[in-house]
Amino acid sequence: MNEAPLIYDLTFDELEKTLVGLGEPRFREGQIWHGLYRRLSDDPSSLTDLPSALRARLGLAFRFRAGEARATARSNDGSTEKVLLQLVDGAEIEAVLMRYEHRRTACISTQAGCAMGCVFCATGQMGFARNLTSGEIVAQVLHFARRLAAEGERLTNVVVMGMGEPFHNYEATMAAIDRLNDPEGLDFGARRFTISTVGLVPIMERFTNEDRQVNLAVSLHAATDDLRSRLLPINRRYPLGALLAACRAYVERTGRRLSFEWALIDDVNDTPQQAEALAALLKGLTCHVNLIPLNPTNLYAGKGSPRERAAAFRERLRSRGIACTVRVRRGIEIQAGCGQLATERRARAAIG
Ligand code: SAH
Ligand code: SF4
Repeated sequence: MNEAPLIYDLTFDELEKTLVGLGEPRFREGQIWHGLYRRLSDDPSSLTDLPSALRARLGLAFRFRAGEARATARSNDGSTEKVLLQLVDGAEIEAVLMRYEHRRTACISTQAGCAMGCVFCATGQMGFARNLTSGEIVAQVLHFARRLAAEGERLTNVVVMGMGEPFHNYEATMAAIDRLNDPEGLDFGARRFTISTVGLVPIMERFTNEDRQVNLAVSLHAATDDLRSRLLPINRRYPLGALLAACRAYVERTGRRLSFEWALIDDVNDTPQQAEALAALLKGLTCHVNLIPLNPTNLYAGKGSPRERAAAFRERLRSRGIACTVRVRRGIEIQAGCGQLATERRARAAIG
């Protein structure tokens, strides 16, 4: 295992310090930064504006790859592709690229596994392995940016909705976004990121106070504390009252629209009672609810709501003035749901 530090873990200033330490002239860090984040090099030998001795030193001092692609899957229509990355210590994470008509969206992970234990989530079911470093988060975005560049295309959006709870690994997640944001590098605007959180209230407050341009989505999934606590154990610590107060503070302070995620589970949270409770909860809040029929997982018995029930839920919300859309989950056949490819591989490994 190559233990050298991952080059994407460095901020520009840290790279500069390292190079000064190596006795290199000052303009080198800019060349390297452009190589990594503009030309999207993942190999020191392709940094051709550097002297070959420095390229060799960089290759020894740093890793340029966060991991190896262990499995990839493409949806039948080719619009969605998923990669399972094995990191240097063997931890596995997933990243997904979705091609919409006008958008190219990467869905990235922030942790290997997740400690939040949401019962219907494949990542929650596998438990927590470790936090990703900022560089490991950055590398997933660069991976797809590179793939698209090879086809003459560009990444347009990043959703932090893969494995893990981003607000449980806040520093690294924000450091990654800042690094990708850098106008001297990839220059990927903060507004093109969406972070989804299960609702860690103190971190939501911190995020709100930082006045970032990044979009926020909250995984709600239930509108009463008893049901939400059963589905999302974190609700016992941060119940709906506290969560909605943090949501309202976010919208008030930032003036931004908040998104809510709601995985429609047949006969569990798609009832008229839940729709009414949800409408009451969100009354007067600038928000949009994304309704996504549940993607079934092995360790949870619930099923996605059938089309008519999803439509009825949507209509009830709309009649109460709540903006909402039923979305299709992309790439169901390639297990593009959160954590599902890694779980499948483990299950197969356990059997075979
Ligand atoms: N941990 C963060 C982000 C990752 S999960 C969060 O929970 O928000 C991204 C989204 O996928 C969340 O809204 C999550 O609740 C949802 N999700 C997880 N498992 C799902 C499943 N089996 N079917 C549909 N949505 C699911
Ligand atoms: Fe973690 Fe999000 Fe899955 Fe819950 S839904 S277990 S917070 S990844």
